[in-house]
Amino acid sequence: MGTRLVLASFNKGKRREVSRILHDIDVLSPPDFGIAGLPPEDGSTFLENAVIKAAFVAFQTRMMAVGDDSGLEVEALEGRPGVHSARFAGPEADDAANIDKLLAELESVGNRKARFACTAVLVVPFQVEPAVLADVQPVQGIKVIQVSAAGRLPDGFSAFAACGTVEGEIIDDRRGHDGFGYDPVFLVPSLGLTFAEIPPDLKNDMSHRGKAFRALAPLIARISDRGWAG
Ligand code: IMP
Repeated sequence: MGTRLVLASFNKGKRREVSRILHDIDVLSPPDFGIAGLPPEDGSTFLENAVIKAAFVAFQTRMMAVGDDSGLEVEALEGRPGVHSARFAGPEADDAANIDKLLAELESVGNRKARFACTAVLVVPFQVEPAVLADVQPVQGIKVIQVSAAGRLPDGFSAFAACGTVEGEIIDDRRGHDGFGYDPVFLVPSLGLTFAEIPPDLKNDMSHRGKAFRALAPLIARISDRGWAG
């Protein structure tokens, strides 16, 4: 049987991207296991929130689970909206409202530098020998680290994290129809196009999420090769 894991997310845009990035893995979702929701993301970092999501799903399913937490960090806003990106304009905010708030805050601001950041966390419902991680090579310079996640991880589980970023600029008008979230206003300067204007595979090649999940892929394969995929 091929490698299977559960992605701890209900965000359709994210799920579409992760399935394409981890194309040779069968990426399942929480509803496939009757899971109707995830715990509140009450961590103060991308790492904490990604562990909360992945640990919950690994515990419920007893399978390997990956969670990611990601967001937009705007230089002139001192890193905001950051971990609050999904709810920047309020608890029920949608993508359109979040972009409106972002553009309002940046009105007449000259510095438009921003980046997307993603921390992807793999949680497995057993201990993994250190030698398994030691064999995993960085992908695009991104190293996987083991995280102890005190208090957030069930006993006997292991967690591993990788972080990816991509630099860009926030433009004043929305451009393009692909992607999700802040993509229509996130310009990649080297292309002169927004993340919503480029094909999904090109976005995945350069994106924060693509980098983080590609870094985890060799470890997922190693663990799965040992017949521990659940
Ligand atoms: P999360 O589900 O808590 O990780 O929320 C991440 C939020 O950050 C999303 O709802 C988007 O608003 C924003 N975000 C993260 N990654 C992207 C991306 O690739 N494109 C556009 N917006 C993103």
